[in-house]
Amino acid sequence: MKHTRRRIARNILCGAAICLITTLAGAQGQNDISGFRPDRMAAERLLEKQFRSIPDAARAESDLRHLTSEPHMAGTDASRRVAEWLRDQYRSFGFDAEIVTYNAWMPQPREVKLELTKPTFRALGSQEKPIAADKDTSDKRAVVGFSAYSPSGEVTAPVVYVNYGTPDDYRQLESMGVSVEGKIAIVRYGKGYRGVKAQLAEEHKAAGLLIYSDPQDDGAGMGDTDPQGPWRPTSGIQRGSILYIQDYPGDPLTPSVAATSVAKRLNPAEAQSLPHIPTMPINAQDAAAILAELGGHTVQPSWQGGLSFAYRTGPGAEVHMKLQMDYQQRPLYDVIAKLRGASDDEWIILGNHHDAWVFGAADPNSGTASMLETARALGQLVRQGWKPRRTIVMCHWDGEEFGLMGSTEWVEENIADLQSKALVYINTDVGVSGPDFAASATPSLREAIREATRDIEDPNTGRSVYDAWADHTGHAMRDTSGTGRTGDAMDASGKTPVSTLGSGSDFSPFYDHAGIPSIDMGFQGPYGVYHSVYDDFYWMNNFGDPAFAYQVVLARTLGTLALRFDEADILPFDYPTYITEIEHRITDVFEACTRQEDQDTLEPALDAVAKLSGSAHRASVALAAISNSVLDQSRLAQINHSLAGVEQAFLAPDGILGHPWYKHTLYAPASDDGYHAEAVPGIREAFDHNDSAALRGEASSLTAALLRASARLDGLAELAREAAEPDAPSGH
Ligand SMILES: [Zn+2]
Repeated sequence: MKHTRRRIARNILCGAAICLITTLAGAQGQNDISGFRPDRMAAERLLEKQFRSIPDAARAESDLRHLTSEPHMAGTDASRRVAEWLRDQYRSFGFDAEIVTYNAWMPQPREVKLELTKPTFRALGSQEKPIAADKDTSDKRAVVGFSAYSPSGEVTAPVVYVNYGTPDDYRQLESMGVSVEGKIAIVRYGKGYRGVKAQLAEEHKAAGLLIYSDPQDDGAGMGDTDPQGPWRPTSGIQRGSILYIQDYPGDPLTPSVAATSVAKRLNPAEAQSLPHIPTMPINAQDAAAILAELGGHTVQPSWQGGLSFAYRTGPGAEVHMKLQMDYQQRPLYDVIAKLRGASDDEWIILGNHHDAWVFGAADPNSGTASMLETARALGQLVRQGWKPRRTIVMCHWDGEEFGLMGSTEWVEENIADLQSKALVYINTDVGVSGPDFAASATPSLREAIREATRDIEDPNTGRSVYDAWADHTGHAMRDTSGTGRTGDAMDASGKTPVSTLGSGSDFSPFYDHAGIPSIDMGFQGPYGVYHSVYDDFYWMNNFGDPAFAYQVVLARTLGTLALRFDEADILPFDYPTYITEIEHRITDVFEACTRQEDQDTLEPALDAVAKLSGSAHRASVALAAISNSVLDQSRLAQINHSLAGVEQAFLAPDGILGHPWYKHTLYAPASDDGYHAEAVPGIREAFDHNDSAALRGEASSLTAALLRASARLDGLAELAREAAEPDAPSGH
């Protein structure tokens, strides 16, 4: 039977791959750095040591203080001021820095009103309560709580509670005979991207949507609230975009092309990423006033949140919401800073957004302050005589909070250059909200991240960041990030977990759309003030990173990785691990098939991944054979472009079924979640729709991608063999 044959095949491939990992990317000894010739390692170690001695906590602190000195939402003058300041900082460090501007269709709230109209009248829509010890929280310039990309509108309707508003929650509600049709749905934050909650409410014909912060998820139920602790006070509001980035991120009017002044724009009515029902975020105290009045069924325990009464489904109460949004073409200011290397055709890119909902101390400016220290240190090395081997590009994106605007437009504008020059993209977003390291990456770069963190000291424990990371992931972590992303436990092989890339930050256009190998990382901790006025300097200084030590450690980690990618002879991509991972995911889908017909449809993809595994094996052997050789720059450049370019082979020219902007056949944000990655998303989508014709289409697109990758790895093996015998005739 096929089924049995596949199980055996899978086990053989796994075994082969495990022993190969050590030959391709893995370092030979404890003290080695993958990708470096033995005679260059000491110099690299010295360079990194010099680099890591430069980032400084006092500088990170004063930079963060400056960055958070006023609210700086995208589309405002304050966002331009931050961009100009960043550009000037980079120029003072010796970078070529410029501001790149786009114009995107972006809203600002003109009027946001919420009232309870039944059973009694009560004005709601309360804003965040100032904290006496923290003067920033009384700043009148803070934008009111609003959902970016909600339409304007006015609705009065009874309310229905839908827990987190996930597909399962709607199914559960339906089984109780309760519908949101024509009602205002109220859902809590958590378990997925808020734009997915809005899309599901729209699909279930709700007339309006309220999204609230339940104290159980990021407030008093987790611990002390600000100013006593890091969690969300009951008046805290999580602002945020509900743009359907699950369809495509970036400017809603210019999908797949850059939002330049000359771009052809859609009419807003045609833009698929724009939501259609009035939506607003509210705090726990307003939610309590509404939820306490609901009738209907008492909910099951998993639907009960942290408010002090028994939750009911509704319908009940009645709410009036009125939203007036001011939609305009608004400017975005990306900062692009380059440190030119000996080769300007090879780019190592780092990025973080600079726009914030209000002050944005953790999200995103802890990352911004860290990147500035990385840049200052790199600039200092250049002044001391170092010349980067490749060009290091450091980017600060605008409009991330509205839906990855600045990064998406820049990637769309520069996609040809990126696909021929970019070797890796390293992202950080909420750079530091605590001491716990976490990373996501394309599977080929997991080991490179682990290796770098072994050489960086963790301030709290005095051991390595890697050891601290292994300690805190030795057991399953609870989601304390406030972003709905969960920490992972140590994986089955006993390695620190590096999860796959979903969406929710600026790596998405690079990875999902352009096929650039990407990493996302930061340090996490108890963080309940996400997207509220309380995410400010006071919070960081009291809870997130009081000594600014982790912003320094993040600067060291980003820079160490950047230096390794910059200086490596052969980039440390680990394809055997990547292919093993893919093989597992495709086999999982195959084994879950209940119909022979579907198994037959997926058979060619399994054959292709077996072929790909063989190609990865041969490439790794060929690369290992030249790892000690001195090769000329142009040959190395060819090999490295080829290594990074394997990722692009996984892109489907027409994209994923139903989400054509997303081109990566192996990973995309899950369509019912939006943050987490789903493997082989086109195949999953076809199964979800129970559509055999679509499954055949997605399976053949996946098979073609796997075979392209196999051919690229074969080409790479050939390049490596030629490099090993430079005088031998090329070819066969
Ligand atoms: Zn962010």
